[in-house]
Amino acid sequence: MDQTPHQGDALVIGAGIAGLLAAHVLSRSFATVTVLERDHLPETPRPRRGVPQGRHAHALQAGGLLALEQLLPGISDDLRAAGAPRIDFCVQARLHLPYGTPPPRDSGIIIQPASRPLLESVLRERVMRTDNIRIDQGCTVTGLLSERHRHRLRVTGVRLVRRNTRAPADERSVPGNLVVDASGRASHLPDWLAALGLPRPAETVIDARVGYATRAYHLPPGRALEWSAVFQPPHAPHSPRGCFVLRVENDQLLVTLQGAGGDHPPTDPAGFDAFTASLHGDVREVLQDLVPISSAVRYARTANRRLHYDRLRPWPGGLIALGDAVCAFNPVYAQGMTVAALEALTLAALLADRTQASALPLEDLTQAFQRRVARVTAWPWQLATLPDRGWRLEPPRSLPHRGARWYLDQWQRLVPQDPRMFHDIARVTNMLASPLLLARPRHLIRVGKAAVRRNPRPARPRTPPPTPASIP
Ligand SMILES: Cc1cc2nc3c(=O)[nH]c(=O)nc-3n(C[C@H](O)[C@H](O)[C@H](O)COP(=O)(O)OP(=O)(O)OC[C@H]3O[C@@H](n4cnc5c(N)ncnc54)[C@H](O)[C@@H]3O)c2cc1C
Repeated sequence: MDQTPHQGDALVIGAGIAGLLAAHVLSRSFATVTVLERDHLPETPRPRRGVPQGRHAHALQAGGLLALEQLLPGISDDLRAAGAPRIDFCVQARLHLPYGTPPPRDSGIIIQPASRPLLESVLRERVMRTDNIRIDQGCTVTGLLSERHRHRLRVTGVRLVRRNTRAPADERSVPGNLVVDASGRASHLPDWLAALGLPRPAETVIDARVGYATRAYHLPPGRALEWSAVFQPPHAPHSPRGCFVLRVENDQLLVTLQGAGGDHPPTDPAGFDAFTASLHGDVREVLQDLVPISSAVRYARTANRRLHYDRLRPWPGGLIALGDAVCAFNPVYAQGMTVAALEALTLAALLADRTQASALPLEDLTQAFQRRVARVTAWPWQLATLPDRGWRLEPPRSLPHRGARWYLDQWQRLVPQDPRMFHDIARVTNMLASPLLLARPRHLIRVGKAAVRRNPRPARPRTPPPTPASIP
């Protein structure tokens, strides 16, 4: 970044979605890009230890698919070839809302349900086709190297440990011109910054206390389903239960149950079935004659968590962070992978500006990147945390906040009967449009009229005519 293109070495911590996409973008500007990954990566698509969420249904939003296609043209075809068909979100996915299910209608909003291991493996295969990217597997980054440069701290590489069961831990320092933290929700970057004598970032956490339980089922050959995906998001404060059901590659149905506000789905077969029976739609009936091919697994580290690196002063040169390491969302809104792709596009745009302007020093660019990441995550953060604040015991804080919650609730009521509202909310939740789309005059009027119809103004009590006794 502070050099002409194709010079210097970039180090990316983590070979998850954010790390792979960042590596791909950086390979156009750096001579080498090394992805440092703690896991030994599987040859075939399989869940792995470093990505425990990978066993649970992951929906890539239509906006995420478009962003991936921009970054890696042809990736949608690669996914299709690997067994993930393209489907219309408003036709082949069922969206069960608390006040009803919108009927299917053509929308052109395309998603491609796949298991997370398949998606990651297709991405990895594409990214690794680039000559100057390599993945160093089985090494855990434990800290940052730094030096002072013109009174400013600059990150100059990482320290890592390579663990091998037969040999003692092998500790090394690896130099790099740019270090990218893409190590996910479990990132230790705040500790690493503190070890360099820098302040810790401010942190915001909104926890809807969501728990997941997932079980995979086999679909027998020729078994027809009316849908390829089912989404029932939990709805605060009265409907804590929800699900994601995805028909994925290899004739598998991934059934992920979600319970908010602490109402976590059980993992024993009877409890899993009973939870399924409490959901909307026909998921329970569909599962009745299907053979489970896994036991249920749970996951409950799901709080919305944002680290305000954009506000941290001083921010060291030579370091950026993205993906869940910066902002992790409650997964019921299925935003994380799309946000990671949008952040990679943001990085690409910043690098392109840099190449054209070629004036900004690396220090300023890394800070500028964190500010742009904060902008990319701002709307998704609102979309996730606005409803999630409903799981807290205290009432919503401010009037605008209460108003926004009320407005969203009115939407949920109207969407099942209003095709245009269904289309627009599908565009927003798929991150194809900003939430401002929901405040179009047409929608404002519709919401206002419906609210008045539902809560007609109570007739003013007429002042009773004076009775003779009341007349003085
Ligand atoms: C239960 C659950 C369900 C989800 N469902 C969805 C969904 O439906 N749709 C969606 O878009 N998103 C979903 N997400 C979010 C999604 O998984 C992430 O947002 C997305 O994968 C981007 O994460 P990442 O690449 O930043 O981190 P990760 O994918 O978590 O990858 C981090 C990588 O860093 C490695 N690593 C960690 N520490 C170190 C270290 N010190 N040294 C070296 N390597 C390290 C890990 O092994 C891992 O490979 C879900 C998340 C959860 C928890």
